[in-house]
Amino acid sequence: MNFDDARKVVLVGTGFVGMSYAYALLNQGGCDELVLIDLDHRKAEGEAMDLSHGLAYAPKDMKIYAGDYSDCKDADIVVITAGVAQKEGETRLDLLNKNAKIMKSVVENIMNNGFNGILIVTTNPVDIMTYVAQKYSRLPYRQVFGSGTSLDSARLRYLLSNYLEIDSRNVHAYIVGEHGDSEFPLWSNASIGIKPLLDVINEHKEYNLSDLEDIYVEVRDAAYEIINRKKSTYYGIGMALCHITKALFNDSNSIIPVSVLVKDYYGVDNIYIGMPAIINRQGVREVLKIHMTKEDQDRFKESGDILKELIGKMDI
Ligand code: NAD
Repeated sequence: MNFDDARKVVLVGTGFVGMSYAYALLNQGGCDELVLIDLDHRKAEGEAMDLSHGLAYAPKDMKIYAGDYSDCKDADIVVITAGVAQKEGETRLDLLNKNAKIMKSVVENIMNNGFNGILIVTTNPVDIMTYVAQKYSRLPYRQVFGSGTSLDSARLRYLLSNYLEIDSRNVHAYIVGEHGDSEFPLWSNASIGIKPLLDVINEHKEYNLSDLEDIYVEVRDAAYEIINRKKSTYYGIGMALCHITKALFNDSNSIIPVSVLVKDYYGVDNIYIGMPAIINRQGVREVLKIHMTKEDQDRFKESGDILKELIGKMDI
């Protein structure tokens, strides 16, 4: 890893999610060099051309081109968004075996070219795909993580911000667990500015604890609702990935809920799962040890058990 030279990102998968991320990078000057790889090389070429034509109006210059896996050798970050997208009526977990095979072959290609940077996975089911990516890359755990519940937590902050009429940047609230149906919010650890969220709700008669449950359900089911209307979701995750990339390059020690390897964490052991972690140029500096209520501990264990069972059923 050499963050002193050009900040180089390789993106594998130039579909909706990949290109939303690439567009966010372009708009925010998120890296110096962006390499696009896809099974469909001509698509990657077209995307590189199209993005490059926006450079005259971008905040900084960037080198953008369609490449191949040899470009991974000196990349600082490889982001994997390659895979099959979630279809209407399909859960993220239905995608498991299809995407696991893709993940294995993509990671082998990356590693065969001497990559030793930070590997970020977004392909669903993201927690399991991150597990597969680490297994086949054999990179240290801190160098491999998934987008996890970063998008879900952004959705939660947005909805709470609307409900409470407070800037979402002052809403400190996290969704943890599987990026999927068993995810859940840590209400007792959430705060609005410095005030615990539950105190804010209890002290204002216009707010209601039962509304929090509705907000959680809206977050949990957001992907289904969007897919029903426009077939897939991509802008939100593109922004989340850009935020993660900037945390890495800026060595910012940002707290972001991502899919990380947990060891003996409230009974969840040796799997990747969404938890807030400190992200800096080394990757995952630390997974936050959170004081959870008994109910939250049970939900976390349940979510972890679902992931563990699926890993056991995987046919690779
Ligand atoms: P998409 O179909 O638009 O794009 C997928 C791209 O991957 C295609 O361009 C395809 O050619 C490419 N691809 C497939 N196999 C490949 C391989 N072996 N090597 C290289 N490229 C390959 O799908 P999308 O909407 O961009 O979604 C991509 C993934 O992201 C899906 O798994 C989706 O479920 C997931 N996703 C995750 C989140 C999250 O929060 N983690 C959010 C939205 C979507």
